[in-house]
Amino acid sequence: MLSQINAFLEANQTINVKTNEPLSKYTFTKTGGPADLLALPTSVPEVRQLLVAAKQNQLPITVIGNASNLIVRDDGISGLVIILTAMDQIDVQGTTVVAQAGAGIIQTSEAAYSGSLTGLEFAAGIPGSVGGAVFMNAGAYGGEISDVLTSAEILTQDNEIETLTNAELNFSYRHSLIQENGSIVLSARFEMAKGVAPTIREKMDELNALRAAKQPLEYPSCGSVFKRPVGHFVGPLIQKAGLQGHQIGGAQVSEKHAGFIVNRGGATATDYLTLIAYIQETIWHKFEVRLEPEVRIIGKKSE
Ligand code: FAD
Repeated sequence: MLSQINAFLEANQTINVKTNEPLSKYTFTKTGGPADLLALPTSVPEVRQLLVAAKQNQLPITVIGNASNLIVRDDGISGLVIILTAMDQIDVQGTTVVAQAGAGIIQTSEAAYSGSLTGLEFAAGIPGSVGGAVFMNAGAYGGEISDVLTSAEILTQDNEIETLTNAELNFSYRHSLIQENGSIVLSARFEMAKGVAPTIREKMDELNALRAAKQPLEYPSCGSVFKRPVGHFVGPLIQKAGLQGHQIGGAQVSEKHAGFIVNRGGATATDYLTLIAYIQETIWHKFEVRLEPEVRIIGKKSE
C-alpha cells in the first residue's frame, strides 16, 4: 500500500492531500479513525484527476460531505477519502439555485432566502453539504430535498460527468440512487418559487427555534441515528424501552431527544456502534420493531 500511496501523492502534488489524517477532526460525532489519504479538491478537474490516480494505484475511494450523518469506524478508512467542502459555490439566477456539492445546505437555504425564493426553508438547520443532502434525500418538518431539486450533476465511477433528473435519482425516504450507483454528486439544481423574504425568514427562524428546543445541539452527534419505522416514532420507542440516558463509554442516548446519540466526551466510534446495536436489540425484544440506521457507517472492520 505504501508504494501506491507514494505514487498517488507524486501524481497529485498540486492538490491538498493529507496522509494518515484523523477523520475525528471532521466528523460531527468527533469520532473515527484515520484516512490513509484525505484529499480536499477545489474543482471538478481536480476531483477527476484524483479518481484517475486512485484507479491507477488501485486505491479505494470514499467521498464524504460535512460528515454530519456519518460514523467512521475506529480503524479508519483504507485508500483515498475525498471531502468536497472546498467546492462550495452557490449561484442564484431568477428562481433557480445551483449549488456545488460541498456547499452547506444551510448556506444554500440562506442564499435562496436572499433571493426571496421559497422552498428550502425546511433545510435551514440541516448541517449537511448539498452532496450529502442529495445522497440522503435529507428532509425535515415535512420537506425533502427531492421536493425542490430538478437535477444533479454527478461523476460516475467511470469518471464521466452526467446530469440526472429528479426522476432518475429515484428518491424516496432518506434514499437516492446515489446510494446504489457509487457516483459522486458534483452539484445540484433547485427550482424554487418567488416568495416574500420576511415570511421566508420567519419560517426558517421558527424551524430553527423548534430544532434548538428539541435537539441536543450542545453536544456532538450525528442527528437522528435511526430511520422512522413504519407506524412508530423512534424517540418515544427508545424512551418506552427505558434507554434514554443509557451510556456506553462516551456515547449516550440523549437525555433531550432519545433519537440522538451524543458524545458526552471521549466517545469512540466503537462506543457509538455498541450502543446502536444495544438499542436495536432491546427495541426488537421489547416491541418487535426493527430499527434501521439512518446514519451511514463506513470504514475498516477490525478482524
Ligand atoms: P456525510 O455525513 O458526509 O455523508 C453521508 C453519506 O453521503 C455518506 O455515505 C457519503 O459517502 C455520502 N456523500 C456525501 N457527499 C457526497 C457526494 N458529494 N457524492 C456522493 N456521496 C456523498 N438530516 C435530515 O435529513 N434532516 C434533519 O433534520 C437533520 N438534522 C440533523 C441535525 C444534526 C444536529 C445533525 C448532526 C445531523 C442532522 N441530519 C439531518 C443528518 C445530516 O445532516 C444529513 O443527512 C445530511 O444530508 C448529511 O450530509 P453530509 O454532507 O454531512 O453527509
